Amino acid sequence: MAVITSLSTHDDTSEVSDLRARIEQQLIAAAKSGRRRVPFGELFEHHGKKVFGVVHWMMRNREDGEGAFDLSSNNEKQSEIDFADRVRINQQRLRSNRKPQYDFIVCGSGSSGSVIARRLAENPDVSVLLLEAGGSDEVPIVTEAARWVENLGTERDWKFVGQPNPHLKGRSMPLSMGKVLGGGSSINGLGWARGHKNDWDFFASESGDTAWNYESVLNIYRQIEDWQGTPDPTRRGTGGLVFVQSAADPNPIAPAMVEGARSIGMPTFDSNNGRLMEDGGGASIIDVRARDGKRLSVFRTYVFPYMDRPNLTVLTHALVTKLTLEGKRATGVEIAFDGKIQRITAGLEVVLSLGAMHTPKVLMLSGIGDEAELRRLGIPVVQHIPGVGQNFQDHFGIGCVWEYQQPLAPRNNGGEATFFWKSNPGLDTPDLQTCQVEVPLCSAETSAKFNPPAASWTLYGGVVRPKSRGQIRLTGPNPDDPIQIEANTLSHPDDLTAAVACVGFCREIGNSAALRPFTKREVMPGNLRGAALEDFIRDAASTYHHQTCTSKMGRDSMSVVDGQLKVYGIENLRIADGSIMPRVTTGNTMAPCVVIGERAGEILREEHKL
Ligand SMILES: Cc1cc2nc3c(=O)[nH]c(=O)nc-3n(C[C@H](O)[C@H](O)[C@H](O)COP(=O)(O)OP(=O)(O)OC[C@H]3O[C@@H](n4cnc5c(N)ncnc54)[C@H](O)[C@@H]3O)c2cc1C
Repeated sequence: MAVITSLSTHDDTSEVSDLRARIEQQLIAAAKSGRRRVPFGELFEHHGKKVFGVVHWMMRNREDGEGAFDLSSNNEKQSEIDFADRVRINQQRLRSNRKPQYDFIVCGSGSSGSVIARRLAENPDVSVLLLEAGGSDEVPIVTEAARWVENLGTERDWKFVGQPNPHLKGRSMPLSMGKVLGGGSSINGLGWARGHKNDWDFFASESGDTAWNYESVLNIYRQIEDWQGTPDPTRRGTGGLVFVQSAADPNPIAPAMVEGARSIGMPTFDSNNGRLMEDGGGASIIDVRARDGKRLSVFRTYVFPYMDRPNLTVLTHALVTKLTLEGKRATGVEIAFDGKIQRITAGLEVVLSLGAMHTPKVLMLSGIGDEAELRRLGIPVVQHIPGVGQNFQDHFGIGCVWEYQQPLAPRNNGGEATFFWKSNPGLDTPDLQTCQVEVPLCSAETSAKFNPPAASWTLYGGVVRPKSRGQIRLTGPNPDDPIQIEANTLSHPDDLTAAVACVGFCREIGNSAALRPFTKREVMPGNLRGAALEDFIRDAASTYHHQTCTSKMGRDSMSVVDGQLKVYGIENLRIADGSIMPRVTTGNTMAPCVVIGERAGEILREEHKL
C-alpha cells in the first residue's frame, strides 16, 4: 500500500488535507500498476487542476510483514498537531483583533452554516465571520462516533422541550439540538441520508427554481462525496470532501435486519442512498460519517481545514441576539459575547443558519414575522412575514424492542441498518423509515410499562412524511425569553395510521427467521391491536431529531425565503439551514442541510461575483 508520510505543495498549504486523499488514491493506483516509486516532485490532478506536489511516500503491504495500511505515521500525526497549533494561534489572533465589519456574517456553525462559511472563505479576498453560541467540539463524546448519545442533556445540547401535547397524552417531548461547533453534525447519530428524489423535485416546484431539483442536487452530492462503497458514478461521487462509508464491520444483527426485511418482500441495497432513494424504498446497512470510529462532523470537514487562514474568524460562545437593520436592509448582527452586547456589521450579507428553532426566533426578535404576533409582544414590526416560525415539521419514531439472545455490543453509530417503506402502496414516496438501534430505545412511559432488559435491541419505526404541523412562538421580546415549541406530533390522524403500519412492518421483521438467532423474546409492543396499539404509539412517540421547515422556501404567502434563499422584503439577508425546507426530507436531515449550505455558497458567490 502507498502511504503518504509527508506532503508539501507549491499550492496553498491548507489545501493539503484535501489533496492528501486524492494523491493517496493516485499513489495506490501507481502501486497497483507496479510502480514502486514516484519522482520526488510530480504533477497531480486536484479538482481538475494540475498541482505540483512534493511527496515523500512509502510502500507497505501485508506480505512485507509490516502490517496493513498505516495512516497514522509519526510524520502525519505531527503535521496534524502542527496544523492544529497554527489554527489555535491564528484564531486567537483573529478573535483578539476582531473587526467591526466582515464581508459576510454566517450565524451558526451547524450542518449548513459550516458549509457556507467554508465556501465563502475559499476566496482569500472575502472576510467571513462565523458565529456560534456553543463551544469547542474537542471532547471525546463528540469525536468518538459510538458515544454520540452521551451528548444529549449536556451543555452541547440546547435541551429544547415541546409543549404538553394532547396527542401524546399530554406528554412534553424533549427536542435536543446541537449547541457546539458543528451543531447537530457534532452530536447526531452520524447517518448520511440524502433525501428522496421526490423531495428535491418538490423543493424545485415550490421555489420555482430548477437548481433545487433532484438532477441538480445529485450533481452537488456527486461533487462533494467521497463514497467508499460499490462505485456508482451516476449517483455517487468519489474524491470529494465528504467521506461516506457504509457502516464498517457491522454488528451481525444489522445484516440480519436487512435479511429480515428482504424476507418480508422489501428489496435490499448496498446503501440507503442512490437507487434506494429514487423509487419505492428498501433496506440496507446505513451510510455513516465516521472513519476509524471517529466522527466526521460537517464543521471538521469543511471549516477546520480553513481555520489557519486570515480571512475566516470563528467566534464561539457568541450568541446572536438579533439582526441590525437600516429600514429593510440587514446591516449586521447584535451578539452577546464576553458578557457584553456587541454589534458587528456585514459589508455584503448576513446568513442565518441557526437551525429550525433559533432562525425564526432571531427573525422575530428582529421584527420579521407575523405582525399581529410581534405587536402582541411589543416588538416593532419591520416586515410582516406570517410564515416565520410556522410549518414546523419533525420525524417521530416508535421504539419496538426485543431482548437479545446473547448481548452484542453496539458498533459504529449503534444504528447500522435501516429500511424505507410505504405505509400504503398507493403513495408516490416511502413515508416510513426504521433504524435498527443496538440498545433499547423507549420513552419514559413505555420503559415504565415494559421494563426492557438492558441487553435489548430496537427497531425504531419512524414516520418520515408527517402531515402534522407545528409552530415556534416567542414568549417575550428579549433574547433570554425561551421559545414555545408546539411540535403537534401526531395531531394529523394520517400520521397515526402510518405509525400503526410501521409498527406492523417492524414486528414482522423483528420476529422474522433472520432475527430469531439474536432474539430471546419480543419485549414491546407485542401483538396489540386497535385502540391498545394506538395508545402504545402515543406513549412511545419520540423525536427523530429532524426539526425543520420553520422558515420555508417557496412562493406562497407563508413562505419566508425565495429560491435564492433571500428573506422576502429584506435586503442582504439569507437563510440557509433546515428551517428553509418546504417539507421535511424523507430520512435523516444532515445531508440535505449540507446541500442547502452548498446551494447558499453557490448563490452568494454568483450574486457577489466572488
Ligand atoms: C441527537 C441528534 C441525532 C441526529 N441524528 C442524525 C443522523 O443520524 N443523521 C442525520 O442526517 N441527521 C441527524 N440529526 C439531524 C441533523 O443533525 C440536523 O438536521 C442538522 O444538523 C440541522 O442542520 P442545521 O444547519 O439546520 O442546524 P444545526 O446543525 O442545529 O446548527 C445550528 C447551529 O446554530 C447554533 N446556534 C443556534 N442559535 C444560535 C444563536 N442564537 N447564536 C449563535 N449560534 C446559534 C447552534 O448552536 C448550532 O451549532 C440528528 C440531530 C440530533 C440533535
